[in-house]
Amino acid sequence: MRHIKELVPLLKKGNIVAFCGAGLSSESSIPTFRGKGGLWEKYNPEVFATLGGLLSLFIFSPKKVRDFIVEFYDILLSGKPNYAHYGLAELERKNLLLGVITQNIDDFHSQAGSTEVAELHGNAYKFWCLKCKIVVKKNREEFEKFIENLKSKQSRKEIIREILNFMGKCPSCRKRMRPYIIFFGQSLPQDELKKGYSYLDKAQTLLCIGTSGVVYPAAYLPYYSRRRGAKIININPESTPLDDIADWVIRETAVNFFKIILPILNETFFRHRRIRLRRKV
Ligand code: NAD
Ligand code: ZN
Repeated sequence: MRHIKELVPLLKKGNIVAFCGAGLSSESSIPTFRGKGGLWEKYNPEVFATLGGLLSLFIFSPKKVRDFIVEFYDILLSGKPNYAHYGLAELERKNLLLGVITQNIDDFHSQAGSTEVAELHGNAYKFWCLKCKIVVKKNREEFEKFIENLKSKQSRKEIIREILNFMGKCPSCRKRMRPYIIFFGQSLPQDELKKGYSYLDKAQTLLCIGTSGVVYPAAYLPYYSRRRGAKIININPESTPLDDIADWVIRETAVNFFKIILPILNETFFRHRRIRLRRKV
């Protein structure tokens, strides 16, 4: 493993794309689902991470769905973007980063200021109409209020009504909106996938950050990027299958990586700007 600082010349060339997973948000107090203490230890993903499983549970045991929603959003709403999310947004502002392709649904990239984001697995703050594909986003405050209300609902009828009302209806066809979360077995949203590939088609460097690289089909994307000639940098404290295709393996947390790399990039960025400005004068 070489030193992180040696990556600076490559990163300064720009055309970077980030491919992110749950590990990036673990330092935002959102545990990875499959890790120790993760959600799947308590809730069976075959039921809670599949649309069919959740729908039948919603009909037959809405209280279990309520408990899951409350626990999930309590975790999500208590977190906030970390230094690495802000670092990625800053790389975009400096025109070094083309976009972020994320498997996370926590919205932290947008909250940190990134504008070019392909959300492969959806976004927990959004709802969509499965027929028209219209996506509607609600803000944190709306979700906070909804969760507080939901906690107080006890009867089956009240719980179902509260959840359906919050999801709302499609502004176009009036069908019931669904959570914009891609469950196991569902195909990825085509627009987001297209956006992700459009970033990768221009990428010279791919930063894989905090992803186990085993959740398919998203995990194909680094291989696609590699075939197109991008340099792959894998940032993960643990080893993953992506190590095999990585030009650089960085055994660091996402936040530590950005704490080392950003100050150096900032320094060189401002030095070049000062030189350019002096030349103009
Ligand atoms: P994963 O849970 O399979 O793997 C997470 C990876 O992150 C692991 O390889 C782990 O070693 C690494 N990691 C842990 N802490 C890290 C840190 N501080 N810095 C860098 N790396 C770290 O995650 P995945 O590959 O993204 O797949 C899980 C699926 O579950 C995703 O598809 C995603 O949709 C969903 N998920 C989303 C969130 C979220 O939105 N925050 C959280 C959990 C799971
Ligand atoms: Zn519709």
